[in-house]
Amino acid sequence: MSFEIPATWDEVYLLFPKQKCEKCRGWYDRDVAFRRSNLLAYAGRKNFHPVCVGCEQTERDTLKHKDPFIEKAHATVRGHAQRRGIKKAEFISLYGWDIKRVAHILRHGYENTCTYCRRLYSTMLNGIRDITMDIIDPAREPFLETNTTACCQTCNSSKRDMPPDMWARKLRFWREWEANQLRMPQPPIQLNLIDLLPLALRTHASASVIQP
Ligand SMILES: [Zn+2]
Ligand SMILES: [Zn+2]
Repeated sequence: MSFEIPATWDEVYLLFPKQKCEKCRGWYDRDVAFRRSNLLAYAGRKNFHPVCVGCEQTERDTLKHKDPFIEKAHATVRGHAQRRGIKKAEFISLYGWDIKRVAHILRHGYENTCTYCRRLYSTMLNGIRDITMDIIDPAREPFLETNTTACCQTCNSSKRDMPPDMWARKLRFWREWEANQLRMPQPPIQLNLIDLLPLALRTHASASVIQP
């Protein structure tokens, strides 16, 4: 005797409520294919998500694999627009900060060195957070093609709203200082207290033996 699916199974299945997914447009068994929405749980019939769990999963996977530089570009443009007190879309159309273009500049910059301090981004420790977009001359309009450069977070916060000539002088100072550091004689070997302590005790002990 073998197990047989009841002939009535299909009929039973048809009795379960169905819902159409807004994304893939399939009609599925509502109870298993759609998540319940907590917010709408008591609002009557419409207490299920409009999109099936299959489509929701695909959406999440796509989000996970999003280009981090695109994300970064969105945040960067939003930040610069906010500082100017205008909407992101307006900032983009006024100054040409196209998201894909900004992402390209950031991605390319990140593989190289900071425009200002010449350090490699790969030697900094905060990953993609270390790269920023700088408006070279804050007194002029921030057109992407002519008045911006990618630089590290440290340089950007050190530069702030400094005029470009002042910033150039500051960078020059740092380069001179670094060159001088290389020319300086090596400092004498520093002994720490822990190294000196046993020596002091020994000296004291031998002194008291000799002196009774
Ligand atoms: Zn679907
Ligand atoms: Zn830098």
